[in-house]
Amino acid sequence: MTIYLDNNATTALAPEVREAMLPHLFGPAANPSSPHGPGMAARLAVGEARAQIAALIGAKPADLVMTGSAAEATHAAILGALRTLEETDHSSHIVATAVEHPSTLALFEDLRQQGWRVTILPVNADGLPSLSDLAAVVTERTALVSMMWANNETGVLMPVAGASAIAHAHGALFHTDAAQAAGRVPVDCGIADYLTLSAHKMHGPKGVGALYVRKGAPFRPLVHGHQERRRRGGTENVPGIVGFGAAASLAALWMDEGDPGGELVAFLRDRLEAGILARWPGAQVNGGRVARLPNTTNIRFADGRGRPVDAEELLTRLDRAGIAVSMGAACSSGGNEPSHVLTAMGLSGAEASASLRFSLSRYSTAAEIDAVLGELPALHARLVAA
Ligand code: PLP
Repeated sequence: MTIYLDNNATTALAPEVREAMLPHLFGPAANPSSPHGPGMAARLAVGEARAQIAALIGAKPADLVMTGSAAEATHAAILGALRTLEETDHSSHIVATAVEHPSTLALFEDLRQQGWRVTILPVNADGLPSLSDLAAVVTERTALVSMMWANNETGVLMPVAGASAIAHAHGALFHTDAAQAAGRVPVDCGIADYLTLSAHKMHGPKGVGALYVRKGAPFRPLVHGHQERRRRGGTENVPGIVGFGAAASLAALWMDEGDPGGELVAFLRDRLEAGILARWPGAQVNGGRVARLPNTTNIRFADGRGRPVDAEELLTRLDRAGIAVSMGAACSSGGNEPSHVLTAMGLSGAEASASLRFSLSRYSTAAEIDAVLGELPALHARLVAA
């Protein structure tokens, strides 16, 4: 049995989600736009799921545009806003933080090449951008500010409410990528003009995302068509959307059941973190001094003299022992580039490459954590003594 501690890359489908999806995978063929009974049933199911997802972030169902991923939702938000402003406005400046998801940073780079003035805000050693830095760069010519709710590599919670206030004070729009935060900590769409969600980070299916668009916020569709109130064309992914709705409901239920901030997950995460630090002299937590998601810890491993160890080797050995973790983001794992998040926090390339991310879920158990800790002394002896 694999001990799966890579839940920021993706999560297992919850049994409740699977059950909700099955009738839509194997039931009668139905396009939600069709006029007959099965079409109507599919339409109702999509509507119910939309309401479940909206409830998780305090939105109205009509404010959600279903997408094929969080990456698409973020592109739809930023391009959907900017393509409108280009026509009406002289704003030419956009802002994002240095630790956004790689697909968001690639979009900002693309926009820079198209002539937008782009500011990438640095972060400090804790992984946090400074609001005074933001206030110093946002002006009346700023069209949009994008700041993720929680970082996928370190779990660090970003100052999104303050950033939104600064953006709005200058008439700029505010987008936040809450793909990692929603379902794990309370997320309220009220601070944002646009908010990105993903189903597969909360025990829903892959290939489904959603974008919250505040009523009245400028938006031009990337994909034209009559679906999603003309904001995203394409026949709806009915089973995926239904699964997303079930996952959002389950996440809300978990948070309502006396565990709003994921304290139970945090308890296990803290046990793992403290256990690793006790068994691996010189290990340090990246981003560990500030508020984080309850499920994430990112640890930098060193040898007896404080020199960074090769975390890839550690990852491989853990994998052989049936323990799945990752080096930073799933997308950068396997590549040789050190994490852009950790280097933005001031780590050297070698230090970043000596770091592993452990991300838990509501299904993680104390026995699993203890099994991981049980492997560490031998791994330490091998890697550090070798
Ligand atoms: N945004 C963040 C913060 C993420 O962690 C991820 C997942 O890796 C994404 C966006 C992309 O999610 P999706 O796979 O739904 O496009």
